[in-house]
Amino acid sequence: MAQSLPDTYKVWRLKRRPQGIIQDGDLELDEVPMPPLQDGEVRVQTLYLSLDPTDRIWMSDRKQYMPPVPLDQPMRGPIVGRVVESRQPGLQPGDNVEGTPQIELGHWADYLVGKEGDFRLVPRHNELPLVDYFGQMAIVAPTAYIGLMEIATPKAGETLVVSTAAGAVGSIVGQIGKILGCRTVGIAGSDEKCQWVTDELGLDACLNYKTDNLEARLEAACPDGIDVYFDNVGGPILDTVLGQMNNFGRIAQCGTISDYNAATPPPGPTNYPLILMRRLTVRGFIVLDHPERYQEAVSEVTKWILEGKIKFRQHIVDGIENAVEAVKMLYRGENQGKLLVRVAPE
Ligand code: NDP
Repeated sequence: MAQSLPDTYKVWRLKRRPQGIIQDGDLELDEVPMPPLQDGEVRVQTLYLSLDPTDRIWMSDRKQYMPPVPLDQPMRGPIVGRVVESRQPGLQPGDNVEGTPQIELGHWADYLVGKEGDFRLVPRHNELPLVDYFGQMAIVAPTAYIGLMEIATPKAGETLVVSTAAGAVGSIVGQIGKILGCRTVGIAGSDEKCQWVTDELGLDACLNYKTDNLEARLEAACPDGIDVYFDNVGGPILDTVLGQMNNFGRIAQCGTISDYNAATPPPGPTNYPLILMRRLTVRGFIVLDHPERYQEAVSEVTKWILEGKIKFRQHIVDGIENAVEAVKMLYRGENQGKLLVRVAPE
């Protein structure tokens, strides 16, 4: 049975491709009449919207791994929500569901209508609270786990370096590195973040890249060189790490957030020839390409969370109307952990 619904719903549309950092007017919040539900459709009230660095890529028309969000269309973003009305067998009011790639993972909207396959049921007997399940298991933990196990393949005793070490993905990567028995060194954007990474997460060292001479401090923190780099940032930090990679080292190229807002492409790494000299493997990956390892990633990381071996932070901003201001925090390093918008109370 349908719950009482508002007459309208809110949706952020991409109006203009941002030039540099996101400006007022690049996205607009529309309020539009709630459409009637057709046979085979389901209506979902968004509870949480995930904000991710890739949002800025999707807003642009640079070459990318999914189609750019078309102008005037709803902004793409992963959501978890609750079914409020269903004309689709298999989903009932009260079910919690996640957006799937069929519905482009979800939209920046407080209500969504979908057809079969657009939403995936969240396991009914979840070991984590819904907000933690969504925040950590929708993207973050699979990215960290699959990026390490499938792409970077660190071994006990090796030295692993991870950038955005206090961020959503990076903080899980660093802790898995410790579980695997690696010397694990983080790189992050403030002393406070670095202190959390060493004192709370247990990494061997963490370097604030905004203070002087990262190169020398990295060398001191990695006396045996670097075997594995989990790269979340690209740019000058990648160049510095490249210069200290050991023979046959591996780089998992997960993200290049340092260039997501660049108006013109930054220069390539000057240490590029070391990929040859040190016989490195550099491999980009997108977590969506590895659905066969999702369940393993979710099970393993959930187990480590429940055993107290993995800690995480979530940064929750209230209100769909604040999504655009919130997403900018990612590119200024202002988020403390996984960034989510609470669109409606659970
Ligand atoms: P985070 O929680 O790590 O937030 C982003 C962080 O990036 C900021 O807090 C900031 O931390 C750092 N940052 C911002 N600008 C710069 C810059 N110019 N140079 C260096 N660091 C910067 O986000 P996520 O964990 O969600 O994402 C981390 C990376 O992983 C991103 O590059 C993202 O695109 C990528 N990713 C890739 C996936 C894949 O499938 N390949 C899936 C999910 C994420 P600080 O204060 O330390 O600078």
